[in-house]
Amino acid sequence: MVARQDVPKDPELKSALLTARRGTAFFGRKLNELSDDELDAPSLLPGWTRRHVIAHVGYNARALARLMDWANTGVETPMYPSRQARNEEIDHGAMLSPVELRELYKQSANHLDVAWRDTPQEAWGHEVKAAQSRTVPASETVWWRTREVWIHAVDLDNGASFGDMPADVLERLLRDIIEAWHHRGDDQDLRLEILASGGVTHLGDTAAVDPVVVTGSLADITAWAAGRSARGVSSNRTDVPPAPRWI
Ligand code: ZN
Repeated sequence: MVARQDVPKDPELKSALLTARRGTAFFGRKLNELSDDELDAPSLLPGWTRRHVIAHVGYNARALARLMDWANTGVETPMYPSRQARNEEIDHGAMLSPVELRELYKQSANHLDVAWRDTPQEAWGHEVKAAQSRTVPASETVWWRTREVWIHAVDLDNGASFGDMPADVLERLLRDIIEAWHHRGDDQDLRLEILASGGVTHLGDTAAVDPVVVTGSLADITAWAAGRSARGVSSNRTDVPPAPRWI
């Protein structure tokens, strides 16, 4: 039997799809490590159990597949009918039996993967839109999913950390977060110092005279910036300040 191949031929898109799939596999692995009883425990997200995280990741794949339908057919299909509908769906999903919840995750990931695989090159450039976002090409769904699966694998709170993420995912994620801060003016007087073997990179408000400086590795700074953890991070102030809101 000949394996099904991705329709898109663009090397950049192919590599982005690979990173998303690696993230999905990673999330799946962390999920499989949890017993059914352990699904009831809290996640790293306030008010959400692990069940909520799993349901959300499942419904997110379905929502992104709707955007791929939109790109393929030209018929506008939003990710979710409304914010409220999205939240109700997650609450409902969190009450599924463990078997159903695991199945939701697997099937929805597979559904999105098939939608990506079968999207011809030209449709990847068709414009789609998430609830509060600007209009973007459908290829952006690959990054949105990448972000979701890697971060929410950490949110399951059973051992995954930002240190498990590929460096290119961390870099882009941190860029996204700083951009969001900048958009709201929240990055004022806040400088990030990323320590790496090759030297120090400064991000954020690099023009500030007396900025709050937050220092750490790329993984630790990104975890802090995403509001997940302050582990490994230090500051020129007495306490490491909480990161500005991201989303
Ligand atoms: Zn999410």
